[in-house]
Amino acid sequence: MPPASPIWAHFNKLGHVAGFQQARAQCKYCNYEVNAAANKCIAHLKTCSSASITVLQGFFGPDFQPKIKQRNNSYLPTEQNSINIITVKRPISRSQPSINNFVNRISSAEQDKCELLFVQAVYRCGLFLSLSELEPIKILFQKLHPCFKLPSRKALSTTLLDDVYDNTKNEMNELINSANNICLISDGWSNMMQEHWTNYIITTPRPVFFSAHQTGEIKQTGENIAADIDNVISQIDHSKLAAIITDNASSMKKA
Ligand SMILES: [Zn+2]
Repeated sequence: MPPASPIWAHFNKLGHVAGFQQARAQCKYCNYEVNAAANKCIAHLKTCSSASITVLQGFFGPDFQPKIKQRNNSYLPTEQNSINIITVKRPISRSQPSINNFVNRISSAEQDKCELLFVQAVYRCGLFLSLSELEPIKILFQKLHPCFKLPSRKALSTTLLDDVYDNTKNEMNELINSANNICLISDGWSNMMQEHWTNYIITTPRPVFFSAHQTGEIKQTGENIAADIDNVISQIDHSKLAAIITDNASSMKKA
């Protein structure tokens, strides 16, 4: 009787299985079933995707390298007689990342950055400050990033507004200070409540909004407009001031 093949260390002999004429054997690593013939079992082991490299090199020699393509195909039953659907049990290696360990989180820096972008959008687009408390907006942001915390209406109208105002003011001052020459542009208008406002824009040449204020009871005479412009000029480096631009209203011309 010839000595038993070493392949049987890697297969369990199943004996006769219903539906097959020949005795069957099952791979110990992936449960794949083949006819219990040594050459069939060796052919499977060569392509078994669940057998470790140690097992494979122990059997086929230290130079053996598993072929990836063959290993992928090894899930499919290849024998003509095979009618069983093979359930492949793959051991999960320790290094394999598990979905159980996935934690969705947001760093405080990322939260701050997203929050800043949100509040800037609200201020620049003139959206109402209670936007973040509207249910559809909450649902939208929850879907986009479940960990992002929308700022409250109170924060939007106090601390965040102050922060954005200060930052914008600093940026504007830097732009004006770094310009070689500036122009002052002014215009007046009345709002819906018939209150008169005056605004000031400085071109660096990039135009920046400098200030706007309600004129209140002060009549828009040439003298008063000139005093107002003087007041604005005193707040900027007037040695850089190249021109003052207004519309052609008679009071402006006088000023
Ligand atoms: Zn196998």
